[in-house]
This record gives sequence, C-alpha cells and structure tokens, in this order.
Amino acid sequence: MTTSSTATPNVDPAELAKFSALAHRWWDPEGEFRPLHEINPLRLGWIERIVGELRNKRVLDIGCGGGILSEAMAAKGAHVTGIDLSEKALGVARLHKLESAAPVEYRLVAAETLAAESPNAYDVVTCMEMLEHVPGPASIIAAAGTLVRAGGIVVISTLNRNAKSYLYAVVGAEYVLQLLPKGTHDWARFLKPSEVAAWGRRVGLDMIEVIGMTYNPLSRRYRLEHDVSVNYLMAFRKPALHD
Ligand code: SAH
Repeated sequence: MTTSSTATPNVDPAELAKFSALAHRWWDPEGEFRPLHEINPLRLGWIERIVGELRNKRVLDIGCGGGILSEAMAAKGAHVTGIDLSEKALGVARLHKLESAAPVEYRLVAAETLAAESPNAYDVVTCMEMLEHVPGPASIIAAAGTLVRAGGIVVISTLNRNAKSYLYAVVGAEYVLQLLPKGTHDWARFLKPSEVAAWGRRVGLDMIEVIGMTYNPLSRRYRLEHDVSVNYLMAFRKPALHD
C-alpha cells in the first residue's frame, strides 16, 4: 500500500478514467451520479451537525468530482477548496460554478501534495466516496490529518467490506437496481470502519462519530442510521493544541 505519494502518485489511472468518461453527466440529477445528488442533503446535514455552522469555515473537499458537495457547503457560506485528480471532473465543476456562482476554488492537486504545501490550513476536511477508489487510502487520511488545523474536523464516507456490502453495493446497486454503472466499485477496495479509524489514530486523529447510510429500494430513499454494514460516514477530530 502506498503511504507516500511523492515517488508514486497515490492514484489509480483506471479509476480516474471511469470518472473522467462520465464527467459530463455529473450534474444530471437523473444520470449516473444520481445517488450522489440524492445523498447530498443527508451528508451535508450530518457534516453540519458535527462541525456546527459552516459559514466562514475554511473547508477542503478531497476528491470533489463535479462539486456536488463542495457547492452545497459553499452555499452554506463556507470557503471551499475542491481538489481532484480528474481534469475532466474539475472542468465540469468549474463550468457549473459559472452557473451557480458558488464560490468554490477548484484545484488539480493530490491531497498529499497540498498537505506538504498547506499544513493546518483548513477548519474542515471532507473526503466523500473517494477512499475506495485510491490505491493508498491511508495516505489520504494522513494528508487530511495534516491539512486540518488543530481542533478541526475530518469527515469521510466510504463503503464497508463484508459479504453484505458485496451483495448490496456491487450486485444490488450495479446489477439489480442499476443505481450505478457496472464496474463503479471494486469490492476488494472497500474499507472496514476499524481500518479507517486505525489509520486516523495513527496520524493523531480521534474518531468521534460514525453513522451508516442505508437505501430502501421500495421507497427509493436513503437515510442515516446505526447500520454501518454497507455505506457509512466517519468523523474525526484533530486534538486542539491544549487538549
Ligand atoms: N466526493 C464527490 C465525488 C465522489 S466520486 C462526491 O461525493 O460527490 C470519486 C471522485 O474521486 C472522482 O471525482 C475521482 O476523480 C476522484 N478521485 C479518484 N482518485 C483520486 C485521487 N487519487 N485523488 C483525488 N481524487 C481522486
């Protein structure tokens, strides 16, 4: 597993290519990224519950894609920087920003590179639905831990790795319900909450909350609940200097 990105960039070109190929569809609420549009209010609400008011907070969104969450956080008054390594996704994000006038700054830069450039620079770092697409997720968590200021919050979301998540997130979501294009997710890259929490701990981040996100195919609704067996969100706090 890659732990440093300077020698080997922590990116899987095949994964980036998947997102780049679909980039023009990013803001179609009925398109391939529909699930991201549908979960956006839920995750935004959870982030606000953990972080408090987003107004005037400096927020970094790692793996921002077309900017669905970045824009929503900016609409709440946060100063958002969105980073991604897909040029196409960022192109779409920049175009959409012209329409929505969302004050987000988008940059094509690796999290690890930005961490070396701007340590302790953000009040909040988010990294949603992205860790399961990179070769070295621990390195992304470490970068997030460097980028966030003491006392700041890191929020991630990803997919758990177990038999149920294979059935629900791969077979169910991609093949049966066709919520996502086939091949979107590689189950072997899914991450157990204990693994993500341990990577956080290793870089001095305290795991403060975890919550599951479930999908009901009958009501076609997502909701937040205790069950973390498939999709989940996790929040960390970087200890304040006087802690
Ligand atoms: N976070 C967004 C998009 C999730 S899709 C949201 O939840 O709405 C996953 C994103 O991760 C894609 O935009 C893809 O280009 C990006 N990505 C994949 N590997 C990456 C890497 N190594 N560094 C930065 N972004 C990456």
